Amino acid sequence: MRAGIDIGGTKINMGLIDESGRVIAKTKLPVRAEDGCASIVGSAARELLKMLDEIGASRKDVSFCGIGIPGTVSEDDRTAVFVENLGWKNENAADIFEQAAGIPCRLIHDAHAAAVGESKAGIAKGRKVVVCVTLGTGVGAGVIIDGKVYKGALGTAGEIGHCVSKPDGRQCNCGRRGCMETVSSGMGIEKAASEHPRFKGRAMKSREIFSAAADGDEAAMSIINEAVRALGDVLVCVVNVLSPDALVFSGGICGQKELYIDPVTDYIRSHAYPVAAGEGLLIATAALGEDAPMIGAALFGEG
Ligand SMILES: [Zn+2]
Repeated sequence: MRAGIDIGGTKINMGLIDESGRVIAKTKLPVRAEDGCASIVGSAARELLKMLDEIGASRKDVSFCGIGIPGTVSEDDRTAVFVENLGWKNENAADIFEQAAGIPCRLIHDAHAAAVGESKAGIAKGRKVVVCVTLGTGVGAGVIIDGKVYKGALGTAGEIGHCVSKPDGRQCNCGRRGCMETVSSGMGIEKAASEHPRFKGRAMKSREIFSAAADGDEAAMSIINEAVRALGDVLVCVVNVLSPDALVFSGGICGQKELYIDPVTDYIRSHAYPVAAGEGLLIATAALGEDAPMIGAALFGEG
């Protein structure tokens, strides 16, 4: 069997997976970013050994453990180069895990892991070129070409949230301005509402903004329409450049089907190069839900 560990900004989702991607056992752990890499990875390793013990197995039964992290991974998949929301820079996370758990390990960007999961065990199984867009606090993507995750030469492939939508727009966490995720992510939608005269000073969560839009609030609707448009523009380019046969939406916001996913899908279908966006392109929401990065991390080591 394999193990997958998905380290997020506030929690770890981890589990034991069989070779087909089926979850044998799983659990969650809280994450406190201030604890640092060694402590967070060490506690995940201990929890994994405990899970194995509980099902009567041992570390020898696990051939591989993939660790998904919300940031950039080194070329050899062993170092967390830059993880903004955990404050990690050049952390030897794979070494730390292997020393603690005694199981071979590699790191993978969490958006890439979600793409591997959906490509090997989810909605895009059997597809040739898969783009999986993770819509959450930020916007990221993973690209799978012929079954393999495409990292790019510098490991940053799929950072579509940082394509420019408004050159002089809002400040982004990456240091630039006007990135698409400052408009189209959950955080971007919340920021737009906080700046809008209609909602000023209310600190609304994205789901409240969606629900206001569903109730016919025009200001909320215009914020969401802008988010749809900015994401749609970037995905039209992604579809035209990569010619995928599957485009999958994953992450928290992908539950907003009628107000977000359906309009983005229509936008891509009607604006991308016609052959690229025709019936050969599956556009769908993820089948594995929040487990996609965990399952993908576990499966990404296989050839
Ligand atoms: Zn950015």
